[in-house]
Amino acid sequence: MAIPDTEIHASLANNVLRLILMPTEACNFRCTYCYEDFENGRMSAAVVHGVKRFLTRRSADLEMLTLSWFGGEPLLAPDVLTEVMEHARGLAAAQPGLHVASDITTNGFLLDPACAARLLDLGVGTFQVSLDGPAVVHDRTRVRTGGGATFQRIWENLIAMTTVQRPFIVVVRLHVHGANVDTLADYLNAHAKAFAGDRRFRLLFKEVAPLGGPADDRFHSSGHRSARRSWAHCAIAPARSVSSVSTPTRQKFAMRRAATLSSCAPMAD
Ligand code: SF4
Repeated sequence: MAIPDTEIHASLANNVLRLILMPTEACNFRCTYCYEDFENGRMSAAVVHGVKRFLTRRSADLEMLTLSWFGGEPLLAPDVLTEVMEHARGLAAAQPGLHVASDITTNGFLLDPACAARLLDLGVGTFQVSLDGPAVVHDRTRVRTGGGATFQRIWENLIAMTTVQRPFIVVVRLHVHGANVDTLADYLNAHAKAFAGDRRFRLLFKEVAPLGGPADDRFHSSGHRSARRSWAHCAIAPARSVSSVSTPTRQKFAMRRAATLSSCAPMAD
């Protein structure tokens, strides 16, 4: 498919910058398929200083700056995130034509209401939180460093965000692999009941793919790889409309506002 000229021009434009920052590659989880070796810890003070200088230098040309926080688990280094976000917001305050946006990819364990409020205050408005399905399967693959379940606390953090009276977006990235594909409908029903009607909550299906590292052989050769590469975005359907969700199995789900989930016709290739 040809890329539209407008997209090519936008991607080459000097007035738009997106930076993906990893404040730490450490993590409080040890997911069984993770590609990280966790050898790199937090970003050094010298690198943080360099990032701020880089932003200052580029800001004069910029109209749109997006800072995307990634890891490891970025919420293990909140001071780095705070320092850079405050700097970026200072630049935007001094330059009215500069708009700053920010998102974070997190396992959600530390995203309690106080943490979410701090991030929103800093201008982080989009949260991507990954789950591996309902607790019964999530807690097998998404374990804490040293062991221990993680689903319940992440779920409580997400539920708490429904009570926040501020704009934001939560993308629940639902990991799909051979060991959880049969439980997706259970998760989707629970998700619909919890978040139906709140359009700030969205779903992204993502297949767990081999990305390198020692876990690849263990995980993907043990039958955990899903049979088919497929993913989809889905917003919980507002009134009168229905969102369609594709899964790696040959099924289609329709999710309705009333928190019901219908199974539809097999999905064509
Ligand atoms: S949350 Fe899991 S997959 Fe993500 S960095 Fe930590 S251990 Fe790896």
